[in-house]
Amino acid sequence: MYGTIRIERNEQGKAIPAAEQSLGFGRYFTDHMLLVDYEEGKGWHDPRIVPYAPLSLDPAAMVFHYGQAVFEGLKAYHCVDTGEVRIFRPDQNAKRLNRSNERLQMPLLDEDFFVNAIQALVRLDAKWVPQKKGASLYIRPFVIATEAGLGVRSSSRYLFVVILSPVEAYYDEGLKPINILVENHYARAVQGGIGDAKAAGNYAASLKAQALAKEKGCAQVLWLDAIEKAHLEEVGSMNVFFRIGREVITPSLSGSILAGITRDSIIQLLCDWGVPVTERKISIAEIVQAYEEGTLEEAFGTGTAAVVSPIGSLLWGEKQMDIQGGGIGELTQKLYDAVTGIQSGSLPDSRGWMVSC
Ligand SMILES: *Cc1c(COP(=O)(O)O)cnc(C)c1O
Repeated sequence: MYGTIRIERNEQGKAIPAAEQSLGFGRYFTDHMLLVDYEEGKGWHDPRIVPYAPLSLDPAAMVFHYGQAVFEGLKAYHCVDTGEVRIFRPDQNAKRLNRSNERLQMPLLDEDFFVNAIQALVRLDAKWVPQKKGASLYIRPFVIATEAGLGVRSSSRYLFVVILSPVEAYYDEGLKPINILVENHYARAVQGGIGDAKAAGNYAASLKAQALAKEKGCAQVLWLDAIEKAHLEEVGSMNVFFRIGREVITPSLSGSILAGITRDSIIQLLCDWGVPVTERKISIAEIVQAYEEGTLEEAFGTGTAAVVSPIGSLLWGEKQMDIQGGGIGELTQKLYDAVTGIQSGSLPDSRGWMVSC
């Protein structure tokens, strides 16, 4: 599509963290990275895998000033069934990256190229895929505007980059419930904005509320819609699910919610299991009512980093609502085990989610 990928090997290579060393998240990077240039009139060109190194950009590069930057996040796993390295649903990340590109007036990438290029990069750095249970190779593709200039318009040049980072299991010692602050003042995103694109700027918008939540002893915030402050959107940078009685509910994709691939996978699993699951508007008032009636059974966030993250309590103004007595809900644990089982190769992948390198 864009020509064959040129490979310039990193002959020295870096030391791979030892098996007993904690990897953390996004602390170590592998030996190589993928770069592809875009220029108006020429399209995407010169795909290359080169030694991991700093990028050189003009200080007037538009990404620094007007924020044309979008990214993705996905993982490769060392699978326990055959020892093969496989990636979780990369085709979905390709599609979503293009939706983000489109929203920020950035050029689309060929989706097959996206998957093939990531496969090639992961293959080359395959020795960096951790073998420890739950650990994985986090893949971070991103696109930035590189044209130098301060006029406000969309850039005519871009760079597509993929870097790789071996990461620890988010929950090293089993799932752990988190405390959540219901955010009544700040907003992450608003309908008509860029909340449904995986844009770097959305994260900048979320940091202050996140810091204030930490001061109150909460790990994340639960975002309400920006206008009425009534309906639930996301939890931190994860999608959110509740089980009320037998039914599982999650906010419908309203325009200010990012369509998580984990969210989609969880919905598919629940459907397959015959668990009633509904995507609809959910108000905080409804959650409070379910809590008071004793039907708020489980709550959890979903995303690539943690997969499933149980919510132990919600703090809304002065009101603290504990869920599952601070323990892990049965369905929460079952979903976590199912998704991580498919990812690690210990459970069959009947939906064709895993893609070999
Ligand atoms: C990336 C992201 C998610 C989770 O998406 P996954 O594809 O499941 O990792 C949810 N919300 C926001 C705001 C995100 O940026």
